[in-house]
Amino acid sequence: MPAPKTPPAPKTTQTRLAKLGLRSDMDLILHLPLRYEDETKIVPIREACLRGGHVSQVEGVVIKNEIALKPRRQLLVTIADDSGELLLRFMNFYGSQVKQLAEGVRVRARTEIKHGFFGAEMVHPTYKVVNENAPLPTSLTPVYPSGEGLSQPILRRAIAEAMRRVDWTDTVPPAIRRQMDLMDFQPAVKLLHYPPVDVDEYALMEKSHPAWTRMKFDELLAQQLSLKRAQRARRDKGAPHLRAMGQMTEGLLGALPFSLTGAQQRVLQEIRADLREGYPMQRLLQGDVGSGKTVVAALAAAQAIDSGYQAALMAPTEILAEQHFRKIAAWMEPLGVKVAWLTGSLKKKDKTAANEMVESGEARLVVGTHALIQDTVQFAKLGLVIVDEQHRFGVGQRLTLRNKGSEGLVPHQLMMSATPIPRTLAMTYYADLEVSVIDELPPGRSPIVTRAIDQNRRDEVIERVHAAALEGRQVYWVCPLIEESEALQLQTATETYETLAEALPDLQVGLVHGRMKPAEKQAVMDAFTAAEVHVLVATTVIEVGVDVPNASLMVIEHAERFGLSQLHQLRGRVGRGSAASVCLLLYQSPLGQVAKQRLLTMRETTDGFEIARRDLEIRGPGEFLGARQSGQAMLRFADLETDQWLVEHARDIAASLLESETGPNVEIVDAHLARWLGGREEFLKV
Ligand code: ADP
Ligand code: MG
Repeated sequence: MPAPKTPPAPKTTQTRLAKLGLRSDMDLILHLPLRYEDETKIVPIREACLRGGHVSQVEGVVIKNEIALKPRRQLLVTIADDSGELLLRFMNFYGSQVKQLAEGVRVRARTEIKHGFFGAEMVHPTYKVVNENAPLPTSLTPVYPSGEGLSQPILRRAIAEAMRRVDWTDTVPPAIRRQMDLMDFQPAVKLLHYPPVDVDEYALMEKSHPAWTRMKFDELLAQQLSLKRAQRARRDKGAPHLRAMGQMTEGLLGALPFSLTGAQQRVLQEIRADLREGYPMQRLLQGDVGSGKTVVAALAAAQAIDSGYQAALMAPTEILAEQHFRKIAAWMEPLGVKVAWLTGSLKKKDKTAANEMVESGEARLVVGTHALIQDTVQFAKLGLVIVDEQHRFGVGQRLTLRNKGSEGLVPHQLMMSATPIPRTLAMTYYADLEVSVIDELPPGRSPIVTRAIDQNRRDEVIERVHAAALEGRQVYWVCPLIEESEALQLQTATETYETLAEALPDLQVGLVHGRMKPAEKQAVMDAFTAAEVHVLVATTVIEVGVDVPNASLMVIEHAERFGLSQLHQLRGRVGRGSAASVCLLLYQSPLGQVAKQRLLTMRETTDGFEIARRDLEIRGPGEFLGARQSGQAMLRFADLETDQWLVEHARDIAASLLESETGPNVEIVDAHLARWLGGREEFLKV
């Protein structure tokens, strides 16, 4: 049997490629270069030396090869062409290299030329041994994103081989290519891997070259197609019709000590309409910290209960879940509704009792932490799932709760978040999510004044806290975040508490942190709510959801260590009552650029949307959403800020391709999705 021309890549290489996500030929082909090297020209040595400072490629014959021992062991190779001589210096080298670069051998070397003590030299150039008149490449040489054990030559070879094997069918129909003035697929990909010498390199680097536009469009189209399909699949599932709005809804509205804001009424209408449909709602309720999402959630739950179903409310922390439980139980139990409480820290006996109430249907509403998604929890008739601070849960956790429906019906899902998602992100990442926004705060809130203060003025701040407390105001003192060590964070919190208790002997100082038992935590929070504690020293456990309207001063220590949205969440704990509120951000100088920008943003605005926008600017979308969020793995090429126009086109074209679900479009859609998503579509189903 004749040997195959190109032997298959060895196992190890395949494994290493797989680690980069490069499994199929198409994966390899869509692994596009980071940058390029120009190896198409050879510069005479003399000219290269005169130019200096630039990367150049020279070619010459080795005239000297020696190993120097001082100042350290190194290989010194001198090459020469007609114009001059150049030293190639290798600090790390193998014995084989010494032989390879023997006198008389012709070498092509490429890197920056430095002017060292001994004149012009190249340090560790990339080089290869060539014959005289060896042809030069006619296109730029790609440099790929790489991984462990994968050299550029290995990657280049694997990609070049894939290019020969792959099916180049253009998955975007000609009419759309014309409409969007797009390059064809194959020439676009080829150009990106092997750009001709005269290519507009700037456009390549900026990803504004038409070849890039084609890649971005294809990628966005795949994303939009797959999101829209997921949306259809959801609509094909059955969900309970929650039509009734009766005793519970009316009772609850009547019991509220306030009337709903216009924004609350509007989002409630949107939710109510969804709940009546026979397919599962998937709605995100966005509203800034303090905008009043809880009561909207409770009213949605009331609709489920009125319709004979159960509702579940899940919150990310025990403190937050307990607050919800207390508040909602106080509203609902007088109306004859049993509310169950379920968290991991319950005693076994209580947990069993709660589970039984949920399973029998006696509990119409269940509030808790992720304990709600345990296998042991069975619902009698779950109609609505509410997830507070949804971004703190993983995709899988939300899915589990959604799978707890009965009679083959999927419960409706309402997610809540105070972290607003900018429009572009919402459009691309959440195309299968309806979004309701509460864009108005309840009346009577006073604006929060924020100031940044150097840590070395801590004494003045303590004075201020003292004065405020004497005026009857309550104070949060937030301890520094120590990400590396929970133990250290705890220690710092305890120390801060002790120092403050000592510095403020006439005040009651309390401490709450993540390691306390739930009952202890609750006791401290109760004392604070009852204004028996003046100053509450807290770790970030208070970040989400804590609601004590009388608290109007907040001090955040080492504010430079917190992220923007975290600072915004924390600050949202004050400014809930009518007293003018103040937030003092203590920082340790000198501040880095990013920290400076964050503190400045905090001083300038209290608008959660504006803060999210700036956060996006500072951090970029990937990190903004966290790796666990759906869709993130899909966008490699398109940039949501600069490519907004493409997103909009891709969305419209996806809609038109899916319009007729029968006929040839299905094949087009399938082929395009297979090319661009492979197995990654699952990300979008949640
Ligand atoms: P968040 O949206 O941050 O979860 P909450 O639901 O905790 O906000 O509400 C913040 C505070 O505002 C609570 O004390 C709540 O009772 C109160 N509140 C909610 N809606 C209104 C309203 N329409 N008028 C007055 N106060 C309200
Ligand atoms: Mg809340």
